[in-house]
Amino acid sequence: LFITLEGGDGAGKTTQLHLLVTSLEEAGHTVVVTREPGGTELGLELREIVLHRRGDMDPRAEALIYAADRAHHIATVVRPALERGDIVVQDRYIDSSEAYQGAGRVLGADEVRDLSLWATHGLLPDVTVLLDLDPAAGRTRLDSARTRYDRLEAEKHDFHSRVRDAYLERAAKEPARFLVVDAAGDITEIATEIRECVQIHLTH
Ligand code: C5P
Ligand code: MG
Repeated sequence: LFITLEGGDGAGKTTQLHLLVTSLEEAGHTVVVTREPGGTELGLELREIVLHRRGDMDPRAEALIYAADRAHHIATVVRPALERGDIVVQDRYIDSSEAYQGAGRVLGADEVRDLSLWATHGLLPDVTVLLDLDPAAGRTRLDSARTRYDRLEAEKHDFHSRVRDAYLERAAKEPARFLVVDAAGDITEIATEIRECVQIHLTH
C-alpha cells in the first residue's frame, strides 16, 4: 500500500505522518517512511540545491530537479518496498509538483503532472491524504514572529493560494484516491480520521 501526505506549508503533514506510522507499526505492519524531495542520498543533494537556489533558478529547471529526485527515489526506494509488500508512507509526492511547480510557479498543472508521471512510470499512490489549510493559517503556524506584510508577502500569499487551489482541484478529480482533511482541526481527531481511512484500504 502506497500512502502519501500532501498539503501546503504548515498544514501538519510531518506530524500526521509520524502519528500514522506509529499506529501502523503498532498494528504489526512493516512501514517504509520516506519523503520528497530528499528520500535518497542523491535526493538529499538535490534537495539542498532546489531549496537553497530556488530564488535564482529558472522554474523549469526547478521542476526538472524535483522530477529527477522523484525518478530516483521511486526506482530505488519506493518500488522495491512495494514489491516486498511493505507499506510506504511518504511525505509529499507527485501532487506537490502539480501544485507547487505547476500552479504555484505557473508552469501548468497538466504539463508538470505529465513530467512526474513520465519520471515514475506512472506510479500513483493508493491513498493520498490532503491536509487542507488556509495559507495564512499555515504561515502563522510556521513562524511565530510576525513578518511584515509587504509586496513580497502578498506575492507569496498568491503563490500559496494557487498551490491550495491546485491541490483541491486534483482531489476533486480523483475522489477515490484522496482523503481531504480540514487541517485546522484537532490533531488527534485528524489522526483518527486518517487511520480509519487507511484501515479501510488495508482490509479491501
Ligand atoms: O515539506 P517540506 O519541508 O519537505 O518542503 C520543503 C519546501 O519545499 C517547502 O517550502 C515547500 O513549499 C517546497 N516544495 C516545493 N515544491 C515541491 C515540494 C516542496 O516548492 N514539489
Ligand atoms: Mg513537513
